[in-house]
Amino acid sequence: MSVFEYAPAPESRSIVDIASSYGLFIDGDFVDGTSGTSFKTINPATEEVLSEVSEADAADVDRAVAAARRAHDKVWSTMAGAERAKYLFRIARIIAERAREFAVLESLDNGKPIRESRDVDVPLVAQWFFYYAGWADKLDHVGLGARPRPLGVAGQVIPWNFPLMMLAWKVAPALAAGNTVVLKPAETTPLTALLFAEVCQQADLPAGVVNIVTGAGATGQALVEHPGIDKVAFTGSTAVGKAIARSVAGTNKQVTLELGGKAANIVFDDAPIDQAVEGIVNGIFFNQGHVCCAGSRLLVQENVAEELLVRLKARMSTLRVGDPLDKNTDVGAINSREQLNRITDLTAAGDAEGAERWSPECVLPDNGFWFKPTIFTGVTQAHRIAREEIFGPVLSVLTFRTPDEAVAKANNTPYGLSAGVWTEKGSRILAIAGQLRAGVVWANTFNKFDPASPFGGYKESGHGREGGKQGLAAYLQAQEGDR
Ligand code: NAD
Repeated sequence: MSVFEYAPAPESRSIVDIASSYGLFIDGDFVDGTSGTSFKTINPATEEVLSEVSEADAADVDRAVAAARRAHDKVWSTMAGAERAKYLFRIARIIAERAREFAVLESLDNGKPIRESRDVDVPLVAQWFFYYAGWADKLDHVGLGARPRPLGVAGQVIPWNFPLMMLAWKVAPALAAGNTVVLKPAETTPLTALLFAEVCQQADLPAGVVNIVTGAGATGQALVEHPGIDKVAFTGSTAVGKAIARSVAGTNKQVTLELGGKAANIVFDDAPIDQAVEGIVNGIFFNQGHVCCAGSRLLVQENVAEELLVRLKARMSTLRVGDPLDKNTDVGAINSREQLNRITDLTAAGDAEGAERWSPECVLPDNGFWFKPTIFTGVTQAHRIAREEIFGPVLSVLTFRTPDEAVAKANNTPYGLSAGVWTEKGSRILAIAGQLRAGVVWANTFNKFDPASPFGGYKESGHGREGGKQGLAAYLQAQEGDR
């Protein structure tokens, strides 16, 4: 035990008003699902049931797509960009005003620490809407032809790790470009998307511009395979992304896929070690490691590996794991039992293959889903924990001797989403970054997001970019003869 212990500092949950059940948000209203079936969403930190949520079937998806088509043809695509911008600015402002409510609800449904939902997720969500609101009246000047048109109706499917943030990354550019959307949140984290539906009502957004259908994989499949949508935007696992790519092949649908990752975080011997340790911790333990671009493979130069590991373990020993609503918590709950099982299985493979596991002392709560921050040393490139996405608070440590070896090891993955480079030399940053096959490379920092900066992957991490002008282009088509 350290000399000073933190007293509990729980955020009050009284600001959120969770209904005992929710319908689907179609054509501007909450409606019952056709089949009448529903599923429970729980708080992963306590296993308490938070609400029952309707499960949309193919008939509901059909209704939502029809509403989105009407809204697209009659209202949204013909509205002046400056008018659309007003709605997006209004949504951004309402999210900023209701930020605390969104943050508490996100932490309850997802298990992430309130410090992150309050200081990272929700502020970025508001920024995303502010940013794309600013583009809505400038589409003719983006370099995509004189009068680029929206694609039409977008079917959007998102994962559970950043529920509201992924919604914002999908909905804001789509709406700014004049598309309407049908969005399916992940089955374990539907609540902030349903609160967002209330924000759409509060902002007087025309009915049908945003539709939200809740459900699991079958609902997502019905949406992406619906013949009435023009664009599929998917964020999730590589396995599902591949299935979606197969299902839309041969159709006219445009596709953006944001999939998994296994990022290398490369630390050279001239890097400021304490700063690098902070970056490593942020890279893998932020959001319990449920981050597609997490720095899950640490590549450290051999001559500083020992010293760095001593300092990393000391820093990890100060991480506070526990109640997500406690403002002092650094690492919250694993989002679901299924995900906890996946992390447990993959780390067991690490043990079986001969890597050495280390975790700091920490007492985990009795209920809920928890996993200690963990590092594996003695990892080789052949180990499963060096190749497969664990999507949890688990770091695999490898070493290298030369810059060429670092690059070869970093690129030795089927993924290509992100990477980090830690060194004092600017020339080395540029040289290494240019050789890494990753959509995003951070230098002397990690996990930084900005709406103006495009984000996306190579290889099995998907294709297409979200954020920036590129993210807008993914929802626009040039007119005949313009390009
Ligand atoms: P997942 O693929 O299991 O589910 C993602 C979403 O797809 C959920 O809403 C799910 O209900 C839906 N879905 C499942 N089967 C479907 C099908 N056959 N057709 C259509 N939709 C279907 O992924 P997950 O476990 O929820 O999320 C974790 C994964 O997401 C990780 O691999 C992570 O790397 C990735 N991710 C990527 C990014 C990125 O920007 N590249 C961001 C966040 C998460």
